[in-house]
Amino acid sequence: MSTGSPVGSHRVVSPAGALPQAADRLDPNPEIADDEVRVSVERLNLDAASYRQLRTKHGGDGAAVRDEVLAIVEARGKMQNPVTGSGGMLIGTVDAVGPRSPLGLKVGQKIATLVSLTLTPLRITDRLERWDGSSEQVPAAGTAILFGRSIAAPIPDDLPEELALAVFDVCGAPALVRRVVSRRYHSGPTVAVLGAAGKSGSLSLAAAKDARAADVLAVVRDQDEADRVDKLGIADRVAVADATDPLGLAAAVNDALRGRGADVTVVCVDVPGCEHGAILSTATGGTVVFFSMATSFPQAALGAEGLAADVEMLIGNGYTPGHADYALQLLDRHPGLRALFDDRVAGRH
Ligand code: NAP
Repeated sequence: MSTGSPVGSHRVVSPAGALPQAADRLDPNPEIADDEVRVSVERLNLDAASYRQLRTKHGGDGAAVRDEVLAIVEARGKMQNPVTGSGGMLIGTVDAVGPRSPLGLKVGQKIATLVSLTLTPLRITDRLERWDGSSEQVPAAGTAILFGRSIAAPIPDDLPEELALAVFDVCGAPALVRRVVSRRYHSGPTVAVLGAAGKSGSLSLAAAKDARAADVLAVVRDQDEADRVDKLGIADRVAVADATDPLGLAAAVNDALRGRGADVTVVCVDVPGCEHGAILSTATGGTVVFFSMATSFPQAALGAEGLAADVEMLIGNGYTPGHADYALQLLDRHPGLRALFDDRVAGRH
């Protein structure tokens, strides 16, 4: 049995010297190194931005979406959408554990990987034949590899797998929002969450409230989503606006927050083009958290400069210690949130 690198560099096929996330291609060979873990894959969760891009590109043709996902995994040895650069995560059963693996996993354990599919060596063996391409959750068979420095969470017995997958996919968002709201501000800030009816958005609302934000504003796309967010009973107010329309969005946020921008704006929308609106909607000295994978660094950096906007901008790191447990706690505390996720997983919205 060979010895691997804890960061997985031994699995990079090209380009030489890259880490797995930035690599064009990984080696998904199921044979493990002595510090690796092999997972028997059961279900993938495609990242929202990636799935939307594929579905839009193929005009909703599920078979074409499935063929493209298969082709990407075959070509790259991992699921990383070449357009959005994003991946998702997976659940499966631990199949083999190298003797020097530090992850503490046991064969037979059901887990969710908490590292992105964009750096996870993946081999699909069933041609995704149980998936019709019409949902971001993908029943799949195959193998995935975890490195010494990967993270994974056992799936709680009382939580349906699809639900766990949906929650863990975005669990970095609420943990980061809690940290920003509680550590950066002495008195409760106002928080605006864009894309608040979605998975990361609804969890971010709950985290902002939990961290004692003074005023939590949910910004959603249309009245249907506004009704859905109202039912959660978490946000202090709800505004309907297109997050890709900078002036319209800023006006809606200012109206809702009594003529001021938000102290903290959290971008949880899954489409490109929200940078300028988010910056314009944020008060001077405030913070923008870009959780969305559709965020463009040049748009954000040059947009803020061009607007002479004195705001701090954070990239939503998918990892914050304790993030998975915290997301599950929020789900427990807010039955409405749990219902929203149940509906989403069942394809009811
Ligand atoms: P989601 O559940 O699909 O939520 C996105 C929400 O944004 C939906 O409610 C959507 O409404 C809404 N939306 C779309 N276009 C809009 C617009 N123009 N104006 C206002 N709202 C709009 O997505 P998610 O799973 O929470 O993911 C959100 C983002 O986080 C994605 O970009 C995803 O890739 C990213 N992400 C980041 C990380 C990380 O580590 N940073 C991890 C996971 C995911 P409709 O459904 O009506 O379109």
